[in-house]
Amino acid sequence: MPPTLDSQLKRALAERVRFYNELGIYDFYRRQVSEIPNLPEVAPEAQPEQRDQMPRSKAAVAVAIEEEDLFAAPKPEADVADSARGLRIIREDLGDCTRCRLHKQGRKQIVFGVGNPKAELMFIGEAPGADEDEQGEPFVGRAGQLLNNMIKAMGLRREDVYIANIIKCRPPGNRTPERDECDTCSPFLMRQISVIQPKVIVALGAVAAKTLLAINAPMAEFRGQWYDFRGTKLAVTYHPAFLLRDPRRKKEAWKDLQMVMKELGLAISTKSVE
Ligand code: URA
Repeated sequence: MPPTLDSQLKRALAERVRFYNELGIYDFYRRQVSEIPNLPEVAPEAQPEQRDQMPRSKAAVAVAIEEEDLFAAPKPEADVADSARGLRIIREDLGDCTRCRLHKQGRKQIVFGVGNPKAELMFIGEAPGADEDEQGEPFVGRAGQLLNNMIKAMGLRREDVYIANIIKCRPPGNRTPERDECDTCSPFLMRQISVIQPKVIVALGAVAAKTLLAINAPMAEFRGQWYDFRGTKLAVTYHPAFLLRDPRRKKEAWKDLQMVMKELGLAISTKSVE
């Protein structure tokens, strides 16, 4: 029998979950009762590998949450059959987002995502840059031009696919997004993925790959294989901005894209990415 919690704590948990829902966060960490090890209490100064484990007090909360299905709150777009409408609902939910520090660090606008709401192929980059921040659309600068060429080389048009980023606001000076910024923003991306239901996701670059897969590995290890991302096939290739800096890697990127084309049943040509 899993341990039970008193009704006051249950109510407090339900309240907290509703609060997160209002923030647009619907996905929570969930752990099976049988998976929860008998963990020691972990002091903040504990060893790094210990810190990654869930301390006993948090484990108890996970058990309680499992016990009473507090996570049944449906996402507002859940019953919407029309994906374009589903995406509009998510966009409305996002609003003029102030959930992380980036809203007051010079972003001009939120860059939600663009493309076919029923796309079979979805590209996910890191974060908007200056051009994207200006125009409100992902991948419209130089890296975007190269991504367009990659899409074209696959025999597709930009409007056939869906393009988004891990975070939706430009970090100051194009710095790498912070972990908490990714954690705050990515639930909206997860909801976009759920609505679009692509056959294949391509993570562009290490930041997208690491965030989506929660694996800390170099690009060389990420590439050339399929991952299961919540039931969707996911491949990793180089970020177009990296390919602009090191064009010799385009050959390898083309191999990655050919793997994707094969999966999608697209004709493999002898073209390459220019
Ligand atoms: N780089 C990204 O990762 N995303 C964009 O939208 C533009 C550049």
